[in-house]
Parts: sequence; C-alpha cells; structure tokens
Amino acid sequence: MNTLLTIGKSLLNFVYPPFCLHCQEALHATHSLLCATCLEQLDLIDSSTRCPLCFSTDFNPVNLLCFDCKHTPSPFNGVAAAFDYIGPAATLIKQLKYSDKPFLADGCGAYLAAQFLQLDWPMPDIIVPVPIPLTRLLTRGYNQSALLAENVATLLQRPTVHALSRSSGDYSQAGLTRKQRLTLDGKGITLRSNASIQDKIILLIDDVWTTGSTMRMCSEALSEGYPSKIYCLTFCRA
Ligand SMILES: [Zn+2]
Ligand SMILES: [Zn+2]
Repeated sequence: MNTLLTIGKSLLNFVYPPFCLHCQEALHATHSLLCATCLEQLDLIDSSTRCPLCFSTDFNPVNLLCFDCKHTPSPFNGVAAAFDYIGPAATLIKQLKYSDKPFLADGCGAYLAAQFLQLDWPMPDIIVPVPIPLTRLLTRGYNQSALLAENVATLLQRPTVHALSRSSGDYSQAGLTRKQRLTLDGKGITLRSNASIQDKIILLIDDVWTTGSTMRMCSEALSEGYPSKIYCLTFCRA
C-alpha cells in the first residue's frame, strides 16, 4: 500500500504549473501539481472509523453497523471512499471531472488502489466503472470513472469490464438540490447484454459518492447478471 501511495504522489507530479492546483500557492522548484502542505492533506480515510457496510461516520464501533444498515438491507457488500469531499481531494476530482485533466486519473487511481488494499474486502474478479451518458462522454471526451477504474484495474492486475451502459440523463448535476439529484441519478443504467458477470466479485468504481443513488441503480442493474458480490469504491464521499 505504501508503494501505491508513493505512486499516487509521484503521478500527481508530472506537469509543471506554477501554482498549487488547490490553494494557488506558488510552487518553487517542484514538479508537483500540489504544494507540500496540500499533498500532505491527502490522507486516506481510516476505514475502522466508518460503518463497514455504508461507510457512514454515524456508527457505533460496538454494534459495528450504523442504524440504517442494521434496519435496511444494503444492496452492496461494502462501500468505501478514499477521501471525504473536501480540501485538495475534492479539488483533484473536480478538476478531473470538469477541467479537462484526464491525466489526474493516474494519481487518483493509485490512491483508490491504496485505499482498496486497506479494506478488508476480497480481491475482485472484475472492476466495473459507473457509466456516464454518451452525450456527456462526447462533450467531456472521457469518462472520469472509467479512467479511475482502468488505473485501479492495472494496479490490482484485474480486468476492467464495461458491464453497464447509461442511456439518458443528459444534464450536469452541479447546482441541483439533493432531492433533484435523487430523482435524476442513475436513470437509464442497464446491464450490457454481452456482460458476463455471473458469480463474479465486482468492484464498482465512481468519482464521488453523493447520495449513493447512482451506485444503487448500478447495483440493481448488475444484480440482473447474478454476480456473487458487489463492492463500491469512490475517490470522494460527499
Ligand atoms: Zn496547496
Ligand atoms: Zn451503515
């Protein structure tokens, strides 16, 4: 895991902007995207401080599960994120998503793989990215979750399988209320007819866990292919 953290740091290193991506501090004689202070803030969430099923902070270590997970069955075998959606981690993922910086997925993917190795999860058979609508893929030029998934897959030496497709939802969710997002999230996510996922352990990858409804829709679609387990890992958790 420490090796992966070093890879993560070094992969955030190969461009030379004069200012830190997050705090705009001038960068002197460094090839980093972030200043030393911001880089230090990229501290992986300690999973022992979260509910092992949904990753909520609102749980009692004695009871192990949070109230919701105790009373409502989860569609997942586990949910986790590398970072909370604040500080330099939030900046990295926003820049990856909205500022045409696909190369950031290399460093972010290494942090995701490092967080995966910290979790008590089985090695997945396949890595599945959350799909984005084709119209958005065409305007953005790439699916940030697919880039993250491919990097995690390379580091864990597992195949990426684009098992899901997304047919609608051509809108940006920035600026929408939580309720509007819950309504719109995950619409049109279906299992590809040629996806062979039966009895497979799936690691589903996305950029940000906001309400969790997109992941739930993905999980429902994946369940139609009878996988053995589904785990969700995101770079940030809002
Ligand atoms: Zn900084
Ligand atoms: Zn929970």
